Amino acid sequence: MSSSIEKLKEIFRKFPTVGHRTAMRFVYYLAKQPKEDINELVTAILQLQKNVKICQMCFNPFEGQELICPICQNPARNKNILCVVEKEADLQSIENAKRYNGLYFVLGGTLLMMRKEDISKLRIEELKNRINKSSFSEIILALNPTPEGIATSVLTERNIRETGFSGKITHLARGIPTGGELEYTDDETLQSAFEGRK
Ligand SMILES: [Zn+2]
Repeated sequence: MSSSIEKLKEIFRKFPTVGHRTAMRFVYYLAKQPKEDINELVTAILQLQKNVKICQMCFNPFEGQELICPICQNPARNKNILCVVEKEADLQSIENAKRYNGLYFVLGGTLLMMRKEDISKLRIEELKNRINKSSFSEIILALNPTPEGIATSVLTERNIRETGFSGKITHLARGIPTGGELEYTDDETLQSAFEGRK
């Protein structure tokens, strides 16, 4: 196999949910595209790299000149509640459901085994700093009801308590299918999961 095909395939393989076969399909698809379309794609990726930043408070990517994203900056949001999610797509689903009005924190992943190298990839220390600098009355652990999400939730709760946080720590109500992900949950189910949290 030629090296440019192999190289691009390996790049696509790193994308979430993309396996060998899909990666190869992407490569063959691109090989057939006209030059202008390829240039447009390259430009869009470069623009993304140039314009999109990670929020210093919640770690959600956003486009803008400030250091803090529009959600963290919004004076209408409830600054007493923090919702911890695994990944950016989960935050987006919760926003789309329009039921939650507090702030967020993107943990950046999950873990199944409590391995040190995996734990160090999560933003646990950043979360503890955030809690220490704020005065939240409630922290919602909105992790996915998957084995990885549950393990991560347990670890996160323990770390939150270590900061001396004395407020409420809540979890989303059942209703999100076991093994399911917030990302693929419909708005109505998400709304009731937030309303019934405990
Ligand atoms: Zn933010």
